[in-house]
Amino acid sequence: MRKLVLATQNSGKIKEFERLLGEFVSDVQVLGLRDFPDMPDIPETGRTFIENSLLKARGISQFTNLPALADDSGLCIDYLNGDPGIYSARWSGVHGDDAANISKVLLQLDGVPPNNRSAHFRCEVALVFPDGHEHQGREITESGKLSGIITLSPRGTSGFGYDPIFQPLGSELTLGELTHGEKDRISHRGIAMRAIAPRILELL
Ligand code: IMP
Repeated sequence: MRKLVLATQNSGKIKEFERLLGEFVSDVQVLGLRDFPDMPDIPETGRTFIENSLLKARGISQFTNLPALADDSGLCIDYLNGDPGIYSARWSGVHGDDAANISKVLLQLDGVPPNNRSAHFRCEVALVFPDGHEHQGREITESGKLSGIITLSPRGTSGFGYDPIFQPLGSELTLGELTHGEKDRISHRGIAMRAIAPRILELL
């Protein structure tokens, strides 16, 4: 059985990746960082989503000696000049505190009218092969983007992160109010995964 390591600790992202990968690959065993408890932390020191996804995929592929798939993603708000961007997970100061991150964004946009609340999600995925693999040294990246607006207050409990305050263009509902399938069809991660899936099948 071919093996692939998913380089993320974020349980919301792991669920989405497993769903999305499952659409394409059935003969691949997907491992997570929980299968490698001694994995050192890989600092996200890049200045862009793509740099960070490559850093994570390279580090984890090297450590596990397996092909690794990483993503770096985040929310870019035009009124905040693209913030929180690569700092999305720790925008409030505490890594992964979704409720605090949402509160901070809503406070920063307090009084800003709907036509000035445009934003997009970005996802960059990177697939890296370890030394000794027939494709060693190859690095493949793909990206996805979802445009929308930041709502005045949170709505819905599905998904993770900023989903309850993000309403995709053309939708009356926030990502937090969509079903998993509806989100996957339009999301930045869904788009990036559908782009990279054929390469996973071909090269793994
Ligand atoms: P990363 O682990 O550094 O890529 O963190 C990405 C952060 O961006 C997450 O912790 C969320 O706060 C946010 N984010 C990324 N993708 C999504 C999404 O699909 N929905 C909601 N928030 C997201």
